[in-house]
Amino acid sequence: MKAAVFEETGRLSVQDKPVPSLNPGDALIKVDLCGICASDLAALNGDITDYSPPVVMGHELAGVIVESRHPDVKVGEKVTVNPMLSCGDCDSCRADLDKYCSNIEGIGHDIDGGYAEYLRMPKHGIDTGKLITVPDTISPEELIFLEPLGCCINAMRETILDRSVAILGAGPIGLMFTQLSKKAELQTFVLEPLAHRRSAADEVGVDATFDITAEQVETFIEKTDGGVDTVISATVNNQRAIDLAFKLVRRGGCVNFFGLAPGGQELRINLEHFHYMGHKLMASWAFSRWSLNESRQMLIDDEIKLKPLLTDRFPIEGIIEGFENARKQGGVKSVLVGE
Ligand SMILES: [Zn+2]
Ligand SMILES: [Zn+2]
Repeated sequence: MKAAVFEETGRLSVQDKPVPSLNPGDALIKVDLCGICASDLAALNGDITDYSPPVVMGHELAGVIVESRHPDVKVGEKVTVNPMLSCGDCDSCRADLDKYCSNIEGIGHDIDGGYAEYLRMPKHGIDTGKLITVPDTISPEELIFLEPLGCCINAMRETILDRSVAILGAGPIGLMFTQLSKKAELQTFVLEPLAHRRSAADEVGVDATFDITAEQVETFIEKTDGGVDTVISATVNNQRAIDLAFKLVRRGGCVNFFGLAPGGQELRINLEHFHYMGHKLMASWAFSRWSLNESRQMLIDDEIKLKPLLTDRFPIEGIIEGFENARKQGGVKSVLVGE
C-alpha cells in the first residue's frame, strides 16, 4: 500500500509499505479520507516536537473496518479514531484528560496513522474506547472533521465567553469556532486576510468579517466599542497574531491562544499593563473524550455546516502538494484520499 511517512524534520516521503498485519484484538481500517492538520505541517517544519518519526502521519481520518480480530468490532463499520491512545487508568485518564497521560501514543504521531491506504487500530486503543463508530449516514467528508470539531468544542467549554467573540483566522478551525459561537448565540466576528476564506465565513453564518489591515482593525474597534469580550486565535500565533489579539479584546476580556505557534515564539507582556487591562489569557488544545462525543452527536444531528470547509483533495502520492496547498492556505481544508 501507499503511505506518506514523516521521516524527520523537513522530510516527508511516499513509500510502498505492506498492509499492516493484525495481532489478536486489533482491527484494520481502510482509509477513505484523511484531513491534513496544521499540527502535521508544524511537525514537519520542526515547530513542534510531539511526534516520533519515522511515522505515517494522519490523525483526522474517515474509514471502514475491513478486518477485525476484536469481538466488539465488525467488518463494514464506519469509523474514525480518538488518536490519543493513553493508558486509560491513571488520574489524568480518569479525569478525561488523556492528553496529560504519561503513557501516550498518538495515532499519526507515534504510531502509523491515516496518510495511507490502511491502518491498524491496536487492541489497546479499542479496549479503551478510542475507536469511534458512526452511522452510515455520516459521509467521510464530514467524518474527518469529528476530531478537529472535538478540539473546538473542548476549547469553547474552557473559554470565558460573554456576548461577543472575534475569531482570528477562517481556516477549517476558525469556521468551526464561528459556527459554535453562533450556536451559543454570541455576536461573532472573523478576522482573516484572505478573501476566499472570508467568504467561507460568510457562508457558515458569521455576523461580519474583517480584513486585518490597520484600517479594518480600526473599524472593528469602533464597531465593537473598544473590542470584544473574547478573542479566539485560530491561526498560527506569530507576533502579528498576538498583537492583533490584544488590539481586539476589550479591557477585562479573554484571549484564547488556540492556534499553534512558530518554534520559539514567546508571549511578552508588560505585567503592569496586563494587570490593569484585566485580561484573561489562556490556551486550549486537543479534545477530551467528552468533546469528541459531543462532536460525534453534532455530526449525527447535522448541526454544523462542514461541506464549505472541505475544498481540496489530493492522492497519497500528492502529499507534498497537499501540504504545500495547506501551508499557503489554498481553499479551506485539504485532505488526502485513501486510494
Ligand atoms: Zn488535527
Ligand atoms: Zn493515563
